[in-house]
Amino acid sequence: MAHRLLGKLAYGSRYDRVPWGQRVYVRPGERRIREAQWAWLTRRAPIMTLADYERLRSLGEIEEFLSCMMCGESRQQPLFEPTGGAEGRKGWRYHVVRCPSCGFLYRNPNVRPERLGDLYATGYSNFLTGKYAANRQRRYDLTMKAFSPVFDEGKERRLLDFGSGVGLFLELAEQRGFDAFGVDLSPESVAQANERLSRARTYYGAPEDVPEIAAGGFDVITLWSVLAHLPRPLEDFARFRSLLAPGGVLLILTVNAHSLLLKAYGSKWSGFTKNHLMFYSSETVRTLLGRSGFAGVAFAPHYGDTVEAGTTKLDADLTARLRRNVELSDGGNMMRVLAFADEEAIGRWSGGPLPVHRLHA
Ligand SMILES: [Zn+2]
Repeated sequence: MAHRLLGKLAYGSRYDRVPWGQRVYVRPGERRIREAQWAWLTRRAPIMTLADYERLRSLGEIEEFLSCMMCGESRQQPLFEPTGGAEGRKGWRYHVVRCPSCGFLYRNPNVRPERLGDLYATGYSNFLTGKYAANRQRRYDLTMKAFSPVFDEGKERRLLDFGSGVGLFLELAEQRGFDAFGVDLSPESVAQANERLSRARTYYGAPEDVPEIAAGGFDVITLWSVLAHLPRPLEDFARFRSLLAPGGVLLILTVNAHSLLLKAYGSKWSGFTKNHLMFYSSETVRTLLGRSGFAGVAFAPHYGDTVEAGTTKLDADLTARLRRNVELSDGGNMMRVLAFADEEAIGRWSGGPLPVHRLHA
């Protein structure tokens, strides 16, 4: 209550009706305050050895302790403790640490890869339908548009959607003419997807389990809200790189660990969802891509789906302020990344409005 009153005194009531996900980007001066708050938090939070950290936490049956997968640093800086669901049987809680060397954010303890299936065994496909499905497909379209012309024309191009769920993206891909395949860990979702699709096909399991996919030669690989779920990202990305044809690209949509919303809301950030394991920023995703043999990367700022679709209720001046603050912070609450397999890919697709950054292993 006191918090709300302070907010009102500081910002006035003009911002009361702005959805909370947009508020931090439109209130005057808030970006600088949140950045300072973040700098203070990361300077002040204690850093400890992995052995000391392990003594603080209990380890669940499907869990393991990790060092930083991006740089190998074992020291831990505990920062957040997200919780969700109802207290009791259905509730969840985990711990998020920051790597004091490279800034990578990850859940620790994390989930053992061989027990990952436990998270997706039942009920995961149910909420991926209805209005949620329509919003998802709008998000895919807006992301492809942000990287235009890379996804405009799919004819004679092979596409793999990794973590294809109920096939919402594959449906758009086959409409654009792509020769599209998917893989997923939920058998229910795969069955639903194959009912939805006409030419595209999805399979249960890993890419190497399906001969047609293991053969590689993909022009495009897509990871829609999948990256944060991967317990062994370096191994997975080395495999993605080898599945790409010369000139191939990989698209990533994931939550942005440098988001102003994370800096403002901490443990209550929308990116800390039940099954997320690791949280990337534009810096740590570059490390991941460089170490997996990719040659370049481009980022498309995310202004929010309603702003980009033109359906936002914000005034024009607030919309302009939101866009500016997204660009000045770190690209919005979601991160949209296009990775280029090699120089051929950079040569083919650079020259658009988004700058391409070269990566070094
Ligand atoms: Zn690190």
